[in-house]
Amino acid sequence: MVTSSTTAASDDEGGDELLAFADEGAPASAIPGETRWKVLAIDDDPDFQRSMAFSLRHFASREGGIELLQAYNTAEAAAILARERDIAVLLLDVVMESDDAGLRLVRSVRETMGNAEVRIVLVTGAPGVAPMKDVMAGYDINDYWTKSELSVDRLYTLLVANIRAYQHLTSVSRARRGLQMIVESSNTLVASRTLGEFSSRILREIAQLIGVPPEGMICVEQRGEYDPMPQVQIISAAGRFSPAIDHHLEELGEPAIEAAIRRCLSERGHIALSDCRVLFFPSSLASANYAAYLSTPRPLDDTEEELLRVFTVNIRSGLHNVALVSRLDEMAFQDPLLGIANRNALERSLEDLYNVRCKSGSCPGSCYTPGYVLFLLDIDEFSTVNLTLGFEQGNRQLREVSRRLRAGLSPTLLISRLHDDIFAILGPASEVTEERINHLLGLHGGDGPPQFVSIGSARLDLTQFRGTPADAIVVASLLLKTAKRRGFSQHEDYVPGLETATAERYRLAMALRDALGRDEIRIALQPQVEMATGRLTGAEALARWTLPDGETVSPGLFIPLAEATGLIVTLGERVMRLAARAAVQMAAHGLAGVRVAVNVSTIQFARESLLQDFLRILGEEGASPRQIEIEITESLAMQDTQSIQLRLEAFRAQGFEIAIDDFGTGFSSLSYLRRLPIDRLKIDQAFVAEIGTVPDDCAIADMVIQVARRMGMGVVAEGVETPDQVDWLRHRNCLDAQGYHYGCPMPLEDLLRWQTART
Ligand code: C2E
Ligand code: CA
Ligand code: CA
Repeated sequence: MVTSSTTAASDDEGGDELLAFADEGAPASAIPGETRWKVLAIDDDPDFQRSMAFSLRHFASREGGIELLQAYNTAEAAAILARERDIAVLLLDVVMESDDAGLRLVRSVRETMGNAEVRIVLVTGAPGVAPMKDVMAGYDINDYWTKSELSVDRLYTLLVANIRAYQHLTSVSRARRGLQMIVESSNTLVASRTLGEFSSRILREIAQLIGVPPEGMICVEQRGEYDPMPQVQIISAAGRFSPAIDHHLEELGEPAIEAAIRRCLSERGHIALSDCRVLFFPSSLASANYAAYLSTPRPLDDTEEELLRVFTVNIRSGLHNVALVSRLDEMAFQDPLLGIANRNALERSLEDLYNVRCKSGSCPGSCYTPGYVLFLLDIDEFSTVNLTLGFEQGNRQLREVSRRLRAGLSPTLLISRLHDDIFAILGPASEVTEERINHLLGLHGGDGPPQFVSIGSARLDLTQFRGTPADAIVVASLLLKTAKRRGFSQHEDYVPGLETATAERYRLAMALRDALGRDEIRIALQPQVEMATGRLTGAEALARWTLPDGETVSPGLFIPLAEATGLIVTLGERVMRLAARAAVQMAAHGLAGVRVAVNVSTIQFARESLLQDFLRILGEEGASPRQIEIEITESLAMQDTQSIQLRLEAFRAQGFEIAIDDFGTGFSSLSYLRRLPIDRLKIDQAFVAEIGTVPDDCAIADMVIQVARRMGMGVVAEGVETPDQVDWLRHRNCLDAQGYHYGCPMPLEDLLRWQTART
């Protein structure tokens, strides 16, 4: 069986003459506490094992003592080898269960377990079964002895030699692993941005390097100009020292440790004591002198001392880099004029709020920690101040804004300057509101006289925002621009959904909003004509947008955009007002019976107040609902039966006429349509376009006409371009038409002239 140490081995001297170990001459017994090298003796001969234990019981050498492990077969040996990774020497009987059992074990030690360090000494009782030389070399077997040759002296000598060899090999491989770790840790250390982070990593890495628990501190020397004794501050701590972080060294209450660290700093060099190491880093590498203190619960060997030396040299440059990085950080993240955060810092904070999981962009909801807003503000007329009163006055204004914001807002909020006179505040929605900021700046009776007239501002609720941090700044800036364009003291709130539109679409939406504000949206009127007589029965009002440079934007582009951004409500009201004016004017020109058709989109229709808003506008323009027809799409008409029916009836009751636009595309249920109060169906242009090209296949246009007639509704064919189409439609009893054949959409004056020219 296996004993755990030589002293526990049998006292029986045994009778094996092959191992007639002499007791005298054996060196003094092992010193307690010294290194004990594990030696595993593998032999199926109990007498041999007994003598071995007896002979080694007093083994001692400069290298340390021995702990003898014993195994009686290869299975036992394998189990011990797997459990004890630090066995220095194997004393192995080649012949055991089988002739090659010993060699098979050697192969599994070297190849399967990958243990290249353990020294192997082969022993055999029978001379002449020496293994081949190449087998010995191949498995790095160092010694081969017959039992008869093994005297105690020789056993001692060969153990000492093999233990030395093992010691050497393991320190080489430990050094290699250590150096590898140094390289790797230098890489992670370089990634540290702050000294605190760097320091705590250093402690962890050193401890790992020499295989001791991380127990230590990094201290920095703070030398005041007239201080006789420098203050020493603990900037990082690990293990039992953790609570000491940010404290002064003397508060630690450990005079011995304090003395060691102070000595290191005053002697400007490393200190090695029995229970600790203190490493020195001079201020030439950083902004001050540093000392790294590490507890070492056991003595370090030469390899470990060497690794520490290499490590300190290596991290010195890291320390230098960190000092540089923190200085660069300051420069990169601070506004030099105001000393507050800059745009980079804002981006970094937004990134922190931005959920990493959402960086793929596939996340349907908001990606930010909920509850935060991004608030932008811009001093009105700042450039005028700069120009007329000079930059110094401008800077004074900027400093005043910064001061008031910092004084009034919680220090946990991020106050930054984006550029020029634009400030950004990132913080909780409850704390960052328009009223609050205005108040802080003394604009609404806050403290002190106002230093400036007013600000423009924008507020982006990140809880509702779907874009990236960079998008957030862009969108907030665009909102701010929009506010500024409206004049002084203007504020814009974020409308959800904006960021899903591309930046171009967003710009266009903002331009549309401005265009609406400046009444740049007009209407064109397209005549609707009774084909049989050529009489003008109606005119569809179509929105037109001409940019200041004369370029027109297609309704196919801006209508969907207006719908997506909610601007369609304002736009729809604008069109209704212009349609009402047109109706009044036409009546004044003898065209009293001509209805003006106005398109109403689903979003407008969803608003409870739509009817009231339209009635108000008509009233203001002196028009009557009887002069107006509203066009709704087939898909809207087919939505929620009950409520649509009621709403349409309400419109109808006020005198509006109702047309279904683009009819034929939605495959409406006819029985349902019958229940709606509808005056007219407009045959979608696509079906009209078929007329004449596919002579016998105009089934849909034909069907729409028949359905409408059977239900007592009027029919207007849209997009009528050719005389053939007119002929075909008239033949089918379709009464009215609208299209280029009769007239394009045109301004009211043109329509009036068009009408005069025909009569
Ligand atoms: P829509 O209601 O179907 O309007 C008819 C469209 O067909 C108009 O395009 C008109 O210019 C065009 N059109 C008229 N006659 C002919 C023709 O003979 N041949 C061809 N190929 N096209 C013809 P427009 O003005 O570009 O308007 C496009 C759409 O924009 C409209 O389709 C309507 O859905 C929407 N829209 C325009 N103004 C408004 C508005 O004020 N409010 C709402 N909600 N939508 C509007
Ligand atoms: Ca229409
Ligand atoms: Ca249409």
